[in-house]
Amino acid sequence: MDTMWALTFDRSRESWEQSTGLVKERVPVPVLDESVDPADGSRVLIKVKYAGFCGSDRGIWYRKAFGDMILGSLDSEGRDKRIVGHEMLGEIVAIGSRVGPKYGYEVGEIVSTESHIVCGTCYQCRRGEYHVCQRDKIIGISQEGCFAEYIKLPAKALWRTDLTKIRPEVAAIQEPFGNAVHACQVTDLRGANVAVLGTGTIGLFAVLIAKGMGARTVIGIEPDPHHQQLARKLGCDAIITPGRPPQDKPWMADPAVREQVLALTDGIGVDVALEMAGLNSSMNNAIQMTRRGGHVVLFGIRNGDAVLQDAHRVVMNGLQLHGVVGRRLFQTWSMTKGLLENSENGIQQAIWDTILNRGEGTVVPIETWDKASFEATMNLHPKPVIRFAQ
Ligand SMILES: [Zn+2]
Ligand SMILES: [Zn+2]
Repeated sequence: MDTMWALTFDRSRESWEQSTGLVKERVPVPVLDESVDPADGSRVLIKVKYAGFCGSDRGIWYRKAFGDMILGSLDSEGRDKRIVGHEMLGEIVAIGSRVGPKYGYEVGEIVSTESHIVCGTCYQCRRGEYHVCQRDKIIGISQEGCFAEYIKLPAKALWRTDLTKIRPEVAAIQEPFGNAVHACQVTDLRGANVAVLGTGTIGLFAVLIAKGMGARTVIGIEPDPHHQQLARKLGCDAIITPGRPPQDKPWMADPAVREQVLALTDGIGVDVALEMAGLNSSMNNAIQMTRRGGHVVLFGIRNGDAVLQDAHRVVMNGLQLHGVVGRRLFQTWSMTKGLLENSENGIQQAIWDTILNRGEGTVVPIETWDKASFEATMNLHPKPVIRFAQ
């Protein structure tokens, strides 16, 4: 059987609790075989070119997130090994018998993929609300991922990509960029005062997108000096450093942040706050700085309970709170394509120059990948990309 390089977690080799990182090893290349699994008729085999390393992969690396989903899915499959990774660009090298007639894909096409594989039959899917499917699986978590030279995927999840319009390293991170597009799609940002709380990778994308969508002012709320600098470079009009909440009240908003936001918005507050840090205090900062009738988009995640400070404020100020997950299929992908392919808005170039640092130190070939040096890379750059093929 043919083998390939992959980055894996294997519970027969390392325990979830007492290990970190991923292991580079040879694993069997997946095959399309309709005689074994008739569903392969609607699947394709993809040769991976580039794969993005996500914040959730960081959570897996340090065993802080997704343990229950990975271990639970391995239980139900009766296996021990999971190939991680869910952001990619690749080339179709084989297709099932129904792929051509049903989905129109051919061998040789360049595609990215939606990472949430939806069931297509649940209540939400039947209503076209695929991003909140009741039975979705996430590649690289609850099924095999793309940190590998090849991946088998259902044709329905793919997204065609034109490499004459998007460079491959950027095309590989359309999925996380799409997360930020989805958050910015919730409400109209044209002419709006927008705050981005937390300018990690998705927050940095959101700064670019909000500007590209015509926001009037974009205010970043970010404590880390390096990320503040990146946000400024990407067009953030103002940056506010949030203070630490009191130790006995870690959920508390910083009143000074609200004061500074009011000063920047004619005493009104922002129209839209995009919460992308996932901290309880940040969520409360978002609610405190949003004008009456404004929108608070909640995107950052942290498990467990949270305190809603001045809960009455939400009602009395007529705030609208939105939870945002994944991407709308495929409206968000279509908007993502539009934003990245339009060279006039400068978004693609800014991602390449600033977030991907023109590929310097951020693009890691699988041939030279090793755990220690990759860990250094992922702690230095917001968005490392692993190259599996040119
Ligand atoms: Zn991701
Ligand atoms: Zn469904």
